[in-house]
Amino acid sequence: MSSLDTYLEAAGAWLRAHAEPRGASRELEWGRGPDGVFLFRDTSPEEERAGIEALKEWQRAKFDAGYGAISRPAEYGGAGLPRAYEDGFRRLEAGFVIPAVADLVSISLEIEAPTILTLGTEEQKQRWLRPLRRGDLLCCQLFSEPGAGSDLGSIALRAERDGEEWVLNGQKVWTSGAQYAELGIVICRTSRDAPRQQAFTAFVVPLDAPGITVLPLRQMTGGANFNEVFFDGARIPDSARLGEVGGGWSAMMTTLGFERAAAARGGGGGGPDLFGRLVMTARQFGRLEDPLVRQALADLYARNRMRSWTARRAAASARAKGVPGPEGSLSKLALTRSLQRAGEIATLLLGPAMVADTGEWGTYAWSELVCGTPGLRLGGGTDEIQKNTIAERALGLPREPRVGTAS
Ligand SMILES: Cc1cc2nc3c(=O)[nH]c(=O)nc-3n(C[C@H](O)[C@H](O)[C@H](O)COP(=O)(O)OP(=O)(O)OC[C@H]3O[C@@H](n4cnc5c(N)ncnc54)[C@H](O)[C@@H]3O)c2cc1C
Repeated sequence: MSSLDTYLEAAGAWLRAHAEPRGASRELEWGRGPDGVFLFRDTSPEEERAGIEALKEWQRAKFDAGYGAISRPAEYGGAGLPRAYEDGFRRLEAGFVIPAVADLVSISLEIEAPTILTLGTEEQKQRWLRPLRRGDLLCCQLFSEPGAGSDLGSIALRAERDGEEWVLNGQKVWTSGAQYAELGIVICRTSRDAPRQQAFTAFVVPLDAPGITVLPLRQMTGGANFNEVFFDGARIPDSARLGEVGGGWSAMMTTLGFERAAAARGGGGGGPDLFGRLVMTARQFGRLEDPLVRQALADLYARNRMRSWTARRAAASARAKGVPGPEGSLSKLALTRSLQRAGEIATLLLGPAMVADTGEWGTYAWSELVCGTPGLRLGGGTDEIQKNTIAERALGLPREPRVGTAS
């Protein structure tokens, strides 16, 4: 294994050969660069698909050069290097113009592939991990249902065994990116009366299987990132079962741990530097000396610093334990609070220009962040659920009452 410095030198040379450095364009300047401050892109289906394809292509180029799964095990297509090498590569990569993040690609790479690595059989890992990591296949997450969101113990989609197959009937909802994914990890009820820890089973399903219908949902930002997914007698082979029959609850907890860790790492929000954008906006509108604005900006800066340290602590703990723990809830909560605060400061600075599109650069664009933040406060477990997790699993406080369950 080469030293970290040597490795990053070679990685930097590869990046320079394959992407444009951001150079001076990284510096924020009023009126220059893309006018977007978003969490969920408000794009047409065609633009969204093109964005996903561009990101898949970039992932393939990285994977083929050995930079696509740096800290993942070598036997499943990774480079098998320590996490510090991957973190170093990501820092370098941030200095180049690369395709914008797409939710589904992050879900597939950062949440679903690690779940398959943790729970899959050897055959499943060999079958799926390499194409997932190369971006050849994308995998979405089919947990939530109309009657089961925070309380995943209410999942009703049934899987019934029929010889070597399972027959799936029911509905999922809020499935991000299902319309562009080839695979999905679906949690099904396989027992009517067992306690939640044994009532569910996880499967990896091909979304083009007969009996599966994906219908996009339009959201208030204008985009259509999520879907309803209907299962009408879809037949899935037992070889697609992820983990034991009755092991679905623990599969969900594993996946949600990866999800919180990824959300906290991602930082979210219009990609770069929301704080820098707010300072620039305050300067542009002559508000930088306003004591209220200065106080709000200082508060956001402090929150962002604490968030980044908390995320590092959660990541270190996850590395030590092998799977992400409840600490990820702290990072996710800190992230959503920072984003909400950033939206409030933008509102303070911009007032009506945030809600009426006058065409002025750097103003109405903030409405996308303000409309998108509630989504991030729900996805991957709501703020309230993160607080419950912190109270019960990190602080060891008494559990809140659960109705009608053995948990
Ligand atoms: C952007 C986004 C992406 C998503 N992507 C996916 C996806 O890819 N796959 C998927 O399966 N799902 C996805 N979801 C769904 C998401 O997981 C659910 O929205 C979330 O779990 C909340 O469930 P719910 O919407 O049914 O709200 P509910 O569970 O009905 O909650 C309603 C309110 O009650 C509060 N509440 C509920 N229970 C408690 C409690 N015990 N204590 C205190 N307060 C409580 C909640 O905090 C919330 O404020 C996504 C959601 C969003 C917003």
